[in-house]
Amino acid sequence: MGLKLFNTLSHSVQDFTPLDPAGKKVGMYCCGPTVYDFAHIGNWRTFVFADLVRRYLEFKGYAVTHVMNITDVEDKIIKGVRESKTTLHDFTGKYEAAFLEDLKTLNCTLPQQMPHATENIPEIIALIEKLVARGIAYKAADGSVYFSIGKYRDNGSTYGRLLKLNFDELRVGERVASDEYDKESLADFALWKARVPEDGTVFWPSPWGEGRPGWHIECSAMSMKALGESFDLHLGGEDLKFPHHEDEIAQSEGATAKPFVKYWMHGAFLLVEGKKMSKSLGNFFTLRDLLAKGFTGREVRYLLLTAHYRETFNFTLEGLQGARTALARIDECLGKLREIAGRDALPRVQADRLDNPARLVDDFTSALDEDLNISAAWGVVFKWITGTNKRMAENSLSAHEAAAALAAWDKIDSFLGIGAPAEIEAPAEIVALLEARQTARKAKDFKKSDALRDELKAEGWAIEDTPKGPKLKRI
Ligand SMILES: [Zn+2]
Repeated sequence: MGLKLFNTLSHSVQDFTPLDPAGKKVGMYCCGPTVYDFAHIGNWRTFVFADLVRRYLEFKGYAVTHVMNITDVEDKIIKGVRESKTTLHDFTGKYEAAFLEDLKTLNCTLPQQMPHATENIPEIIALIEKLVARGIAYKAADGSVYFSIGKYRDNGSTYGRLLKLNFDELRVGERVASDEYDKESLADFALWKARVPEDGTVFWPSPWGEGRPGWHIECSAMSMKALGESFDLHLGGEDLKFPHHEDEIAQSEGATAKPFVKYWMHGAFLLVEGKKMSKSLGNFFTLRDLLAKGFTGREVRYLLLTAHYRETFNFTLEGLQGARTALARIDECLGKLREIAGRDALPRVQADRLDNPARLVDDFTSALDEDLNISAAWGVVFKWITGTNKRMAENSLSAHEAAAALAAWDKIDSFLGIGAPAEIEAPAEIVALLEARQTARKAKDFKKSDALRDELKAEGWAIEDTPKGPKLKRI
């Protein structure tokens, strides 16, 4: 069955058909981080969502080129550079390194291209020049270059298609220099910002004088450079719809007179403990804050993947505990399956007797094909686990079936990216206790071996007897 996605541009669920006539290649751009701080859990919801989209498209057989920009020059960054009295490169480098590390912790596949705004200044200038040549951009008295919404509309183009802006009800202001503004401040926006003393050493030469690019034009220039003037998918958080994405469309289509992006996908907001995340409320979490509380990237990823991307998600610490329990249930089932798959003693049973493993993949992907309905897809997984556990409890699951079930799980995990729990290595003294227990058991000194097991338990370690011998597990 084909994949259907909700397209913010058409405001409807549509069949996904790539622009590539062969139907194989897909170009996908996701607005990346502005590296002025550590990314918070709301940002991570968007990046994990983008990772799911990319992995799922690959699972469906598409050859995806995934591009994510690094915004390394922008209003907030300039402020950070000024306040921290450091260089632009040193300031953004620290947060970019942290971002890449966090991306790995959450098991997100690295995009094939991660262009930096500061490394694409000539492309950004060339794009602005095109807009100036077409009469859609102009240099204002303050020395900055602005995009003219009026001229763009005079040319027959529609501004504000993602939000369905109604210009009859809007008061369009003259100009807005800041990168971020709301609908009430809709106005000509800055493409090139003339150098001001507060910019310090952050400026580049341009045909309009020294300055720096506006945030919106950076994404238009970098996405089209990487993926062409028209490409398939553009993703981002819903807070970016306006003005960022509306401006991206206007700049790109204004310059090329071609449709910019076929499908726009937006991830919904994330609340924390039922409220909008804010530092003053104490519910502002970076990934690092959650790791410091003892949670793992795997648990955070799982929790972020439990909700449909278009639903507002309430992220709670209790939910993270729940994620831990759910993962333990999955891991336990998979562990038992591995154990059975390693045996050959049981007779082979007809594969279709089981909650057929192929059905796990079919049912799961059918749910995801419907605009990535992951909540329904998880329902399929837990039903499958219940059925599989029942079969294993009855001792009626063959090694062959267990192996098939594991293969089915691996298939869906190729796009879920849940993986296996990280092995925690036991310290040497704990391993020594385990070895002493084994020696005692061999000598049939069960009193001693039981005492050693209790000692391990008191240290927080359990012994799990597996076909490959005893293993230590953290309690
Ligand atoms: Zn962007």
